Amino acid sequence: MNKETALIVFSGGQDSTTCLFWAKRHFAEVRALSFRYGQKHEKEVELARQIALEAGVDFEAMDMPLIGQLGRNSLTDATLPMDEAKPDGTFPNTFVPGRNLFFLSVAAVYARERGIRHLVTGVSQTDFSGYPDCRDSFIKSLNVTLNLAMDEQFVVHTPLMWLDKADTWALADKLGVLELVRARTLTCYNGIPGDGCGHCPACKLRREGLERYLAKSD
Ligand code: ZN
Repeated sequence: MNKETALIVFSGGQDSTTCLFWAKRHFAEVRALSFRYGQKHEKEVELARQIALEAGVDFEAMDMPLIGQLGRNSLTDATLPMDEAKPDGTFPNTFVPGRNLFFLSVAAVYARERGIRHLVTGVSQTDFSGYPDCRDSFIKSLNVTLNLAMDEQFVVHTPLMWLDKADTWALADKLGVLELVRARTLTCYNGIPGDGCGHCPACKLRREGLERYLAKSD
């Protein structure tokens, strides 16, 4: 157990909720930071707040509407039909350019103001849906940049980096929160909590992972 505090970038989805409980195991204190960035399904912030409250984790939400204003993507633009599959050679339009860059940068400043140097994010390269800012090379590079930018010794923790979705369910189970993650988190791109709409790419990835995990653990 690390005696320090960790700040988690927390969306209330499957991945960051699993990371929140991972962080509770590994750090003496955990705080959670969510962002309103113009996402169509802003209720995810309210769900995140409730999960954090129940977990006994200090929670704050910050407004970052510029992210939704800067780039065109189907998570913030209600008029853009969502890509249900990854187009050849490019990202699906659910990619929000700069999201993890901005979130982690703001989180680092927020953490520094509170004497916190450990940051936790639920990104995964294994199931990264083609999003470049979920890759390990980006996170390592940003970690160096944050340290140089503020002359600090931040450590960005990525417990899910090399886990696929089945492994992530296994981790939630090991942490005793599989049912909580399954019922209460919002991963669905159509804004439906729990098992979701069932057909968007996020729901498919989540469900296939759960099915693989449950088949293995039987
Ligand atoms: Zn869905």
